[in-house]
Amino acid sequence: MKGFEHLQAELDQMKEKGTFRQLVEIESDQGPYVTINGKQVIQLSSNNYLGLTTHPKLKQAALKAVEEFGAGTGSVRTIVGTFSMHQELERRLAEFKHTEAALVFQSGFTANVGVLSALLDDKDVVISDAWNHASIIDGIRLTKAARRIYKHSDMADLEQALKETQQYRTRLIVTDGVFSMDGDVALLPEIVELAEKYNAMVMVDDAHASGVFGSNGRGTVDHFDLNGRVHIQVGTLSKAIGVLGGYVASTQTVRDYLIHRGRPFLFSTSHPPAVTAACIAALDVLLEEPQLIDKLWDNTRFFKAGLQSLGFNTGNSESPVTPVIVGDGAKAMLFSDRLLQEGVMGTGIAYPTVPEGTARVRTIVTAAHSQEDLQKALHIFEKVGKELNII
Ligand code: PMP
Repeated sequence: MKGFEHLQAELDQMKEKGTFRQLVEIESDQGPYVTINGKQVIQLSSNNYLGLTTHPKLKQAALKAVEEFGAGTGSVRTIVGTFSMHQELERRLAEFKHTEAALVFQSGFTANVGVLSALLDDKDVVISDAWNHASIIDGIRLTKAARRIYKHSDMADLEQALKETQQYRTRLIVTDGVFSMDGDVALLPEIVELAEKYNAMVMVDDAHASGVFGSNGRGTVDHFDLNGRVHIQVGTLSKAIGVLGGYVASTQTVRDYLIHRGRPFLFSTSHPPAVTAACIAALDVLLEEPQLIDKLWDNTRFFKAGLQSLGFNTGNSESPVTPVIVGDGAKAMLFSDRLLQEGVMGTGIAYPTVPEGTARVRTIVTAAHSQEDLQKALHIFEKVGKELNII
């Protein structure tokens, strides 16, 4: 069929440059080892920080929910798609995050898009870190608010932005809690200080921090002891929580407003019972098994130190997200392909997801890995790294 020839031309260019990707097919569950092309490999690319994708309590909760409440909800939340369990999960999330209220969206992506597009209009300004996640960028594109992007974690630039935007009604500073490609942590205490000095509000996207930072995985706000000083916390149920979804933890006003104006919430069907029940079970696990978080951090320290002592460049990571930066896009893809052939799944990430010249294999260890698994992975990194002259 004719049409979209220019798109095919762009894809052909990617193929020439070696940055065209096939989707990787997982033929097993999402555990510390996965089956790809019939072969077991060490999984170092999932966001399954605590190993909850396969936790028995989550699986049992999902199965029970299917038996009792069926496979789907048949409606958006605002018509007849709100089951008791949806409200229970939101109460539990608010309690967990020490906020007045919470609201669940279908994904972390739609939570960011829904919040930013609904809460701001042309009287407002959004002040956003240059490295924020794509869903924040898209949310900002959908608002009528003015926008000011500050240099990544540059507090002088943020202060300048705050000085320049005093005429706006609401000024919302938005930042990832943990930056998803580099694993560095937002300078949240400084951001909150500046926000208070200039009478602005703060929104943190803790997608990669919930379940990882703070007591029982409450996130960066709790980690930095800033409870009550950050207006909006977005989180995801798709990473450490092990299931699917996003949420906003904030005030009752914000929750009520988003129920009426948050477009992805309003116009897209609610989560199936299995998803919601598994998320509730995951919150129980966070409270009952904090040792999983300790294990995640032990594994993170072990693996990061191992990569560094081999001579790899792991950037400024302060979290389990550990990039192995190689620079050239095609080289990062080759690195990833060779790792996979040797038994490690480490995804190559290149421009436009990260700036040109900083292509990398991004690794994330989980609490489900043993140190033997990680030692095995380090041997493979060493072998392939030497072969490709990366170390
Ligand atoms: N925010 C950040 C910082 C993320 O890394 C991601 C996931 N890539 C999201 C939001 C979106 O979350 P979800 O996968 O639940 O849509």
